[in-house]
Amino acid sequence: MIKSINPYTNEIIEKFKQDSKSSVNKKVKLADKTFQTWSRTNFERKKTLMLQLAKELKQNKKDYALAITREMGKPITQAIAEIEKCAWLCEYYANNAESQLQSQEIKTDASKSYVRFDPLGVIFAVMPWNYPFWQVFRFAVPSLMAGNVCLLKHSSNVMRSAENIQQAFKNAGFPEGCFQNLIIKSSKVEDVIRNKRVKAVTLTGSKPAGSSVASIAAEEIKKSVLELGGSNALVVFEDADIDKTIKACVQARFQNTGQSCIAGKRLLIHESIYLKFIESFITEVRELKSGNPEEEDTYIGVMATEELAKELEEQLKSSIDKGAKVILGGKRNKAYFEPTVVINVNKKSPIFEEETFGPVMAVTSFKTDMEALDLVNRSKFGLGVSIFTEDLERAKAMIPQIEDGAVFINELVKSDPRLPFGGTKESGFGRELSSFGIHEFINKKTVYIK
Ligand code: NAP
Repeated sequence: MIKSINPYTNEIIEKFKQDSKSSVNKKVKLADKTFQTWSRTNFERKKTLMLQLAKELKQNKKDYALAITREMGKPITQAIAEIEKCAWLCEYYANNAESQLQSQEIKTDASKSYVRFDPLGVIFAVMPWNYPFWQVFRFAVPSLMAGNVCLLKHSSNVMRSAENIQQAFKNAGFPEGCFQNLIIKSSKVEDVIRNKRVKAVTLTGSKPAGSSVASIAAEEIKKSVLELGGSNALVVFEDADIDKTIKACVQARFQNTGQSCIAGKRLLIHESIYLKFIESFITEVRELKSGNPEEEDTYIGVMATEELAKELEEQLKSSIDKGAKVILGGKRNKAYFEPTVVINVNKKSPIFEEETFGPVMAVTSFKTDMEALDLVNRSKFGLGVSIFTEDLERAKAMIPQIEDGAVFINELVKSDPRLPFGGTKESGFGRELSSFGIHEFINKKTVYIK
């Protein structure tokens, strides 16, 4: 059995019977069969269904959001915002996929030569719990618009959301087999990747999971995309607009109770404004309301599991042993972790070197632009960086030297259907969203007519 447990109340919400080997095979076969017709479905029909899915999400956003909140502790207003963003994503690809997948003519000595963008087939996704709908939608929507079909293995703690997503596709009218949820544990992922009918795999999650999935895919010579962890830096220069910067940095770190891959986890502040900035930053963090995730004014809920909160506590303890100092929060009660601000964080602190997946901000100071750049690039991750300054030329000069997949100036790093999303280094490879994302699971077919 796979269980969903409410991390706020500790109650078991629901139990799910795992799919047997034969039931997984049946689902894979159905997906493959559906692909034969879905891949030939015209854009008009796919667009209609995708817009219907957007409507379905908007109409039932409260129910879908409540299931998220109960399974992984996300405050309800943030869960509703997640569903709304998925509806936006559906509308974006409904309206743009056709032009993004138009054949591209290339002049050669042929009478005509061009590239077609054809689907690959059954795409298998292994997804995390932190944005139970968004992570799945941002892979599934472009995949389906491109003519592929989808199989999902979701995190074990959010199986109700996984089932709800499958139901949402059904309610919107998608043919059976376009999107199916597999109720399996991670030990069964390998069999699915190796199944001949599965053509590619995408994983959003941790490095060990990504490394395992990509190795198996490589053995089978199947395409993979990995969206892994991050430890984004927030670089604050002395000429930044302090009020706006503080608001952005607080949101960057503490939304979704700090459990986001693109959260700003390392706050790098120019030494000349360090003390003043920290004082105002703490004042703002103190205002964040912790509480019952089902209440609308709660901003900080509980972490997704008590285990994860304990891991964060360990990272904090060993960072304190290495000289870091907690100036706000720092305490844990079961799955609840206080919004925490830590100063004197050095390059060897675990909360600087590793990813912290919870509400802990690691603060470091710097003297020069070069030093800031070194601190940014020192991370083994490479998802994104935010730079705060009123001097745009100074910020722009840094951009080519930053190793990450995204640079945001005077804004927190966020995902947007119109922009590519993905990382470098241990944050993974491949891109999601925008025209770059829809081109990941595509056969770029060269056609040459003499
Ligand atoms: P996780 O433990 O890696 O789990 C992610 C998914 O992989 C789950 O479905 C999990 O299934 C499965 N899994 C775990 N180990 C596996 C293995 N050895 N082989 C195959 N599948 C395996 O990660 P998480 O704790 O759920 O999520 C947090 C991590 O995801 C963080 O590092 C975060 O930064 C990253 N993340 C990255 C992005 C991005 O876009 N770059 C977005 C969100 C999150 P079970 O639940 O059954 O174990």
